[in-house]
Amino acid sequence: MIKANAKQVNHLHAQPLRRKRAVSYFALLARVVLLTGLSAACWSCTCRAPAAVGSPAPASPGSPPPAAAAPDPSLPKIDVHMHIAPSSAQLALQLMASAGITIGLNASGGYPEHGLPDSIALERSSGGRIVPYCNLQLSRAPDPDFAAYVHATLTACKALGARGVKIPKSLGLGVVDNDGRLLPVDHPVFDPIFDDAGKLGLPVLIHSGDPKAFFRPPTADNERYQELLAHPGWSFYGKTPNGEPWPSWESLLDQFERRVARHPKTTFLGAHFGNAAEDPDRVARMLQAHPNLVIDTAARVPEFGRHAAAKMRALFIEHQDRILFGSDLGVTPDGLSLGSSGAEPDAVEAVPGFFLAHWLYFETQRRGLKTPTPIQGAWTIDGIGLPRPVLEKLYYRNALRVFGLTLPHR
Ligand SMILES: [Zn+2]
Repeated sequence: MIKANAKQVNHLHAQPLRRKRAVSYFALLARVVLLTGLSAACWSCTCRAPAAVGSPAPASPGSPPPAAAAPDPSLPKIDVHMHIAPSSAQLALQLMASAGITIGLNASGGYPEHGLPDSIALERSSGGRIVPYCNLQLSRAPDPDFAAYVHATLTACKALGARGVKIPKSLGLGVVDNDGRLLPVDHPVFDPIFDDAGKLGLPVLIHSGDPKAFFRPPTADNERYQELLAHPGWSFYGKTPNGEPWPSWESLLDQFERRVARHPKTTFLGAHFGNAAEDPDRVARMLQAHPNLVIDTAARVPEFGRHAAAKMRALFIEHQDRILFGSDLGVTPDGLSLGSSGAEPDAVEAVPGFFLAHWLYFETQRRGLKTPTPIQGAWTIDGIGLPRPVLEKLYYRNALRVFGLTLPHR
């Protein structure tokens, strides 16, 4: 039973997968082959001309060893939050190779009855480089047999070989009961998902809420106005399709946290920096309070990068076993999405710069860096220059542990 606003939000989440404007796959592939060749030059060009991407921070006496002057492309990377259509796998693999990403976890892995078998076949044919989460039909929540559906689906996901479960933001912002009322993230009807995932050893990648700006009036003074203009349905200001007020950002975060607390034996991967990139103090408190919570960085470097570099560096070091690299890159036959997007898909030429902006932020202490996703706001960020052992955990070691993966031969 699919309800109108559940469909709406599911559609919004999947928007990059269903763009109206068709992009020639072969044109994209031809361009990325060219870019793959250029990417090595891109790294060395960064070394020679740091001023082009931000100036180094001055050293201070007594400070820890200086951060790297430039990103180290030899560090392996696992991206735990990607959206890859199996039909676009060749392009995705080229883009990953050009960015040094060894494994990508595909949050759009599909359902056991539709999509997941193709994603599992892709994992095999890619030599383990594109690894799927599986998806569930949350809109079936009002059905009396929902718990049985969940159990059968997650059991099938595990049997087929999915490595985790993806729960989109429609949980809390789209899935409704039989009267059209939003069901909160921590509604007991969803308990079987998280209990079963824990028993089956499937980590849950969960997106709850959205940027704070999407809960404010979508007017020209909203700092995410460009995105809201391109995607009016991303606004959660005002009333739901059912005429009730949207839940607040804070209440959604509280629902998310109660959900994490209720299932201590289930590993939660809080998408988008624990769903609270605007509030690193809250993220740190949640990580402290819930040992079963880890978080990804997907599509939120621009947001958490606004906080003082020293504060963020300290947070990444303190919680070095709990933060996993993710980008939210979308690669589908309809186009690319680099963390977010405007009215049109992103250009393939923008992909090297998208990843380079991440590496510069994490690995160097350059100031005034361009963010990976400029449409999220017109500001620059300062690099946090993490120590190498912390970078290794962020980039791949934590993901190997959480998902039980091994690095394929490079
Ligand atoms: Zn995503």
